[in-house]
Amino acid sequence: MLLFKKVSTLRNHLESYRAAGRNIGFAPTMGALHEGHLSLIRQARAENDLVVCSIFVNPTQFNDPADLEKYPRTPDKDKAMLEKVGNDVLFMPPAAEIYPPGPATPLAIDFGQLDKVMEGKFRPGHFAGVASVVKRLLDIVEPDRLYMGQKDYQQFAIIQHMIRSLHLPVQLIMCPTVREADGLAMSSRNVRLTPAFRKRAPQIYRTLSTVKQLTGDFPPSVLSSRALNELTTAGLRPEYFEIVDGATLQSLSQWDKTTSAVACTAVWAGEVRLIDNIILK
Ligand code: AMP
Repeated sequence: MLLFKKVSTLRNHLESYRAAGRNIGFAPTMGALHEGHLSLIRQARAENDLVVCSIFVNPTQFNDPADLEKYPRTPDKDKAMLEKVGNDVLFMPPAAEIYPPGPATPLAIDFGQLDKVMEGKFRPGHFAGVASVVKRLLDIVEPDRLYMGQKDYQQFAIIQHMIRSLHLPVQLIMCPTVREADGLAMSSRNVRLTPAFRKRAPQIYRTLSTVKQLTGDFPPSVLSSRALNELTTAGLRPEYFEIVDGATLQSLSQWDKTTSAVACTAVWAGEVRLIDNIILK
């Protein structure tokens, strides 16, 4: 595996691959890698000639400086894991490579309601930061395919909108959420859970699964209230639990109003904020 820290040397390297007609699969991450990230790399490995992974803890998507500070960083372990799954190129830029000094160039994209609801409501500025870093990384790597996880469903919808509205020449691929044996969605933040909250956290997926089973039998609002109660009773602090249209991310009032529905939630497990979702139909 080759490691690049500078945009210019990475670009030179990738240019020769592209010129030889080889295609490139790309998975952007913030590091502290786990099996969820590796599933993206494995799928990219199976579908492309060259696989590029980036590790960049993007400061512009953290609305809370303490959260950025506490974000886990395990570069040596990450490199070893990437080697094992056959990743070809690792891009680990310092912040100044991605955000050169001088006035910032904002990304002017209207996301409509997509960045106003759920995570957008509770983490102001978060998606502007995500879209801006993904756009910069796409401009640098110029991949044929971009791999992202269902785990961050709203993020996926935002990036899909960006790709469509700017006609970016990349195919976006959603990879299923990888879970621990007890159902907890893998996340870099899980290492910060205390043993007591680690025990409670699998309730998130149990609740999501129950909602899926009951889909269609009760109105969405009844299922959301029930889910909020269940999570609270389990000793967690849900920030939201929403059943939304899978494309517009607007709250659903009736099941027959849409062909695609997703239940999304954000939950505090002690001091750690976890998100998860399940596709209902
Ligand atoms: P992150 O490092 O948290 O920014 O995540 C990088 C990419 O990995 C994003 O596309 C995430 O959606 C994806 N990802 C994170 N956790 C999981 C998981 N448990 N299963 C599948 N994909 C994941």
